[in-house]
Amino acid sequence: MSGRLSLHPRRTLRRQAFMRQLASPRLECPCSKNWVFNMSIADSLTAPVNKIIPFSLVDGPGSRTSVFLQGCNIACAYCHNPETQNLCIGCGTCVEQCPAGALTLSDGVVAWDKSACVQCDTCIHVCPHKASPKIEQLTPHEVFDIVHSYQPFIRGITVSGGECTLHPEWMRELFALCREVGLGTLIDSNGCVPLWEHEDLLEVADGVMLDVKAWNPAVFARLTGGDAETVKRNLAFLAERDKIEELRIVVVPGWNDPEQTIAGIARVLGDKVATTKLKLIRFRRFGVVGTLADAASPTDERMAELEKLARDTGFSQVELR
Ligand code: SF4
Ligand code: SF4
Repeated sequence: MSGRLSLHPRRTLRRQAFMRQLASPRLECPCSKNWVFNMSIADSLTAPVNKIIPFSLVDGPGSRTSVFLQGCNIACAYCHNPETQNLCIGCGTCVEQCPAGALTLSDGVVAWDKSACVQCDTCIHVCPHKASPKIEQLTPHEVFDIVHSYQPFIRGITVSGGECTLHPEWMRELFALCREVGLGTLIDSNGCVPLWEHEDLLEVADGVMLDVKAWNPAVFARLTGGDAETVKRNLAFLAERDKIEELRIVVVPGWNDPEQTIAGIARVLGDKVATTKLKLIRFRRFGVVGTLADAASPTDERMAELEKLARDTGFSQVELR
């Protein structure tokens, strides 16, 4: 044995961030004091990153890098990525089943060896807690460095989840860094975090892609376990600030109320209804577990009927997915 202590991967990342902060050329930095201040904050925050997709064409306009954070504040019955809902509680179930020995459990914390992982997803399939051990705690600077390396090929970044707005300060720092180099910044949100309490995040975000999963509070609660009122208040707040990139309704037969949702959104938007993008998304059972694992998708006729209703209600930018 070498006698050298090996650090837990999370600690290694934090140590690297700390060392980078010490080594950062603050005095020579040509930027403003604000930039130095931001570097200091950005290196001390971390968020659980589930995945970074370098180039996505479905997460906002143009080619974008999509960053997915782990952990959600609701639990949709139709969730297509249920393994992103919770943080790992260190039960150890997946560790024993990893065929590549990429997982180890120590003091109730699972460490993931990315270099040994063969991406078989066995750990995700066996996890009884809708979590994933394949998470990296990264600082805004660490994510920015990755995103920045793709800059010649992307228009911007979209941060999603889980629910990314559970990490408002981390997002604010990441978005500020992206804006410094001219990258666009979009939030993909379920609307269940009170965004009106995070004006500073909105200041550095180009817009929000907001899910409106149902309108009736009881229907919303049954579908998601969350509170429809927060979504409605966010909708009004974002409309007033001109920060809606697009609104999305997933049509789940027998589970939500798209007619009422379209009408309710239009009432809140008022004059802005004609200029607001609305995406009507067909429920698909791929990746869904639990009650809706075998549920049917809406028919083409049903989707066309809802599109017509949306246009008749005043939306001029309606897309079917
Ligand atoms: S995906 Fe999970 S189970 Fe498969 S090799 Fe990687 S860590 Fe192990
Ligand atoms: S990822 Fe899931 S199965 Fe693996 S240790 Fe964490 S909670 Fe347990």
